[in-house]
Amino acid sequence: MNAPLLPALTEPDQREAIRFGQHTLTYRDLAGTAGWLARQVTGAGRVAVWADSSIHTCVAVVGCLLAGVPVVPINPKVGERELTHIVNDSKPSAVLAAPGVTVPSALAGPRQVHVDIEAREPWTGEEPPADASALIVYTSGTTGSPKGVVLPRRALASNLDALSKAWEWTSEDVLVHALPLFHVHGLVLGVLGPLRLGGTVQHLGRFDPEGIGTALARTATMMFGVPTMYQRLLASAEADPELARALGRARLLVSGSAALPATVHERIHEVTGQRVVERYGMTETLMNCAIRASGDRRPGTVGPAVDTVDLRLVDETGQPQDVYDDETVGEIEVRGPNLFLEYLNRPDATAAVFHDGWFRTGDMATRAADGYYRIVGRRATDLIKSGGYKIGAGEIENALLEHPDVAEVAVTGEPDADLGERVVAWVVPVGGRHPSEQELTDHVARLLAPHKRPRTVRYLNELPRNDMGKVVKTRLIAPPAWSKD
Ligand code: ATP
Ligand code: MG
Repeated sequence: MNAPLLPALTEPDQREAIRFGQHTLTYRDLAGTAGWLARQVTGAGRVAVWADSSIHTCVAVVGCLLAGVPVVPINPKVGERELTHIVNDSKPSAVLAAPGVTVPSALAGPRQVHVDIEAREPWTGEEPPADASALIVYTSGTTGSPKGVVLPRRALASNLDALSKAWEWTSEDVLVHALPLFHVHGLVLGVLGPLRLGGTVQHLGRFDPEGIGTALARTATMMFGVPTMYQRLLASAEADPELARALGRARLLVSGSAALPATVHERIHEVTGQRVVERYGMTETLMNCAIRASGDRRPGTVGPAVDTVDLRLVDETGQPQDVYDDETVGEIEVRGPNLFLEYLNRPDATAAVFHDGWFRTGDMATRAADGYYRIVGRRATDLIKSGGYKIGAGEIENALLEHPDVAEVAVTGEPDADLGERVVAWVVPVGGRHPSEQELTDHVARLLAPHKRPRTVRYLNELPRNDMGKVVKTRLIAPPAWSKD
């Protein structure tokens, strides 16, 4: 018999599984209600779940996993064109949504099933094999049009077990978060993580620092968030000693999905006494690296590879690097049971990212002698080739964030007649401040080598970000009028 993906549902008890606003489901409730749903979708090819931040989304996904039907979580804020692409690409035979939700016309074709969280009919079907597809998650679309990443049950099970080991995460933990439920961060780590371990997830519906503080002051032991959430928590904690205390008392605060600036890490430590733990992963691989609960919480690093995951760095020709130190940057390649099966309907794209059985992440990093990785950025958008140098955008971004007048920043490269590419900084100043271009470039030249200084600074009120708070650098394009050439 296959080992269950969610063992706590095979002999469910009265411990709390999910807390969502007014709703609470124990493991026994969840086994009944997800079991009922599993019966509604049995035999469906694929099922789309309207993944709003609700308890219904959690139950819908668990129901499909019980029945062994692959789930396509849909971002409810997705635009019509993107939704049409996802529906045409994944061809769901049913759509699950909370009662009262009317799905857009692009999703009106498949059979509609409303998720009834009161219905109780425990599931008695067999556990599907480990290599069966569990989820088809569309990537964030940070660098191109979203691709459907097909994740097998094995990837979920092995990676959640690896994280449980890294973070000493057990059935005693209560995880609080407010992450969206249509990406792996919120759904796989944030919901299936606690459920696989027999612990509790408390979802706030929407992010607010006060809600996080209240949860951590009561029963929550851990929090998961993206860097923009930690920035907001920091701003609130600076003015609210009670929130600072609650954050300081948490067993583990984890950040991921994008780089947590070292300045934010240090400032959170000053204000709360807590050091945030960073981890690095992606839709295609789930989590590759994580700082251990008992490990050195070094700012700007994502820790060593997690259990069962093999990582290596390769140079530009695809050769594994033989030097591993704080300076030598290479592309991260991944091998292990955590890997996705394929990009749905995209054999070309799938073939392009595999290399001798290793998955090419497109992310650049260094690895220190003790195995700690430091993410430098994405090969496509964060590596600037200027004047014969290869310059990582992240290093310049961190330097600029150390300037007191800089609130947010993104660094890009733009074509330049002399240099090949020119370093450009897009700066959101702290309210009411206007640091000059000269001041900012001098600041970078003082902290880093002179060739790393930005040649152009552009000022913005905000950076373009997607729903995970990630900066979408492909949208930072100079209008022709700004061109200096
Ligand atoms: P798309 O693939 O559609 O362009 P995306 O890559 O942003 O979108 P995800 O799979 O959600 O979609 O994100 C994974 C990426 O996020 C990683 O490849 C990496 O670039 C970035 N990332 C995740 N965690 C971290 C981290 N701790 N530090 C720096 N970058 C991170
Ligand atoms: Mg990606």
